[in-house]
Amino acid sequence: MLVRLATVAGLQLRVSLMSIATFASSPILAMARRAAELRASGRPIIDLTLGEPDFSPPEHVIAAAHEALSKRRLGYTPANGMPELRKAICESFERDYQLSYADNQIAVACGAKQIIFNALLASVEPGDEVVIAAPYWASYPDMVRACAGEPVIVPCQSQDGFRLTPGKLRAALSHRTRWLMLNAPGNPSGLVYSAAQLRELGEVLLDYPDVLVLSDDIYAPIRFDLTAHSERFATLAAVMPQLAARTLTVGGVSKAYAMTGWRVGWAGGPQWLISRMVAVQSQNCTQTATLSQIASTAALLGPQEFLSARNAIYQQRRDAALKVLRTCPQLSIHSPDGAFYLLPILKGKHSDGDAIAHDLLENHDLAVVPGSAFGVPNALRLSFATEASVLVEGCQRLVSYIGKLSQ
Ligand code: PLP
Repeated sequence: MLVRLATVAGLQLRVSLMSIATFASSPILAMARRAAELRASGRPIIDLTLGEPDFSPPEHVIAAAHEALSKRRLGYTPANGMPELRKAICESFERDYQLSYADNQIAVACGAKQIIFNALLASVEPGDEVVIAAPYWASYPDMVRACAGEPVIVPCQSQDGFRLTPGKLRAALSHRTRWLMLNAPGNPSGLVYSAAQLRELGEVLLDYPDVLVLSDDIYAPIRFDLTAHSERFATLAAVMPQLAARTLTVGGVSKAYAMTGWRVGWAGGPQWLISRMVAVQSQNCTQTATLSQIASTAALLGPQEFLSARNAIYQQRRDAALKVLRTCPQLSIHSPDGAFYLLPILKGKHSDGDAIAHDLLENHDLAVVPGSAFGVPNALRLSFATEASVLVEGCQRLVSYIGKLSQ
C-alpha cells in the first residue's frame, strides 16, 4: 500500500493514496441518485434509501438561525467550535448520558462523519487494525482504509440481535488493534446495547489497554419501546468509567434534530486525541459553518420534548412496516430498538441483495439499499424516515416481488 507521510500542525499523518484512489462513492447515495433520476423521468418510485428524517428542525432552532442571520456577523470561529456550542455539548452529555467532559475534551466538525474521519486520521498508523461489527455503517471500512488502517470485520448474527458478543470481540482483538467501533442504535441494525451488555464488552477491553473505542451514538435519542429501565441511554464511557480515558463518544444534530444539511457533529474524549482531531480540522475546512453552530447550540439547549413525540411516530411506522414484511416467509426480520432502519434478511434461494435491490429499482419502482453496503449481502435496508402510507406501500411492493420470485 502506498502511504504518504504528511505533517499537519506537528502531527504525522499517514494517508493511504492507493485506497483513496480506489474509493467507491457511497452505495446509498448511488441508489438514491438513480431513484431520483427514474422519478424525474416520470416513474412512480418509492424511495426508502436515505437515512434522512422527513421532519423539519424544531421551530426554536429555525428562529435562532433567523435571529443570528439578521443580528450577528457570522465570521470564523475556533476550529473546535464556538465556546457556547462546546458548553451546550458538555451540558447535553451530562444531562442525557451522565458523562462529564471539560471544555478541552470536546471537538466539533462538519457532521459526525467528519468527526469520525478526523479521529481515525489523527490516530491510525499504517497497518493498524480497526474492529468493526457487521452490519456496520457503510462508511466505516472505507474511512479506515483511507487512513492506511485495516478494517477487521466481525459478522454478527440476527439471532443475537446483531450485537457484538464478548466472545466475538475477544477473538477479533489483537496487538495490532487500534480502535473498536461501536454504533448503537445501529445503522442499519437498529440494535441497542444494555448497560450490562456494554459492561461485558468493557471487561474484554480491559485486557487490551491500548485499544481506543469509538462509540458512535448519533442515533441515541431515537429509541423505541422505552421502559423505566431502558429509558436512560447506556454508552460505554458512562457505563465503564475505567474506559472513559480511551473512549471517544460521538454525537450530532443530523438525526435527532432533523438537521442533516446543517453539518454539525461532535465528540467528547481524551484530551490528547481531541487536540489532534482539532489540529486536523484546523487544516481541513477550519470549522463547520458558524450559522449551523448557533442553530445547533439552540437545538441542544432548547426544549427536548419533541423527541419523544417523533419517536412515537417512528415507532408506529416501524410497526406498520413490520406487519407487512412479516407476512413474507422468505424474509426474516428483527425489530429495531432504535434509529430508523429495517434490515430484512433474504432467506431461501433468492438471497442476493445486490441483484434484488437493482431489479426492484429498475423494474418495480422501489428503491432500497443492498445489504452488501453494510457487510450483509443477503439483506436489504429500508429507511422508515418516510411517511407511513408510502412506507407501507413500499413494503407491500417488496413482499409481492419476493413472493413472485419464489413461486
Ligand atoms: N454515524 C452513523 C451510524 C450514521 O448513520 C451517520 C449518517 O448516516 C453518521 C454517523 C454521520 O452523520 P452526520 O455526518 O450527518 O452527522
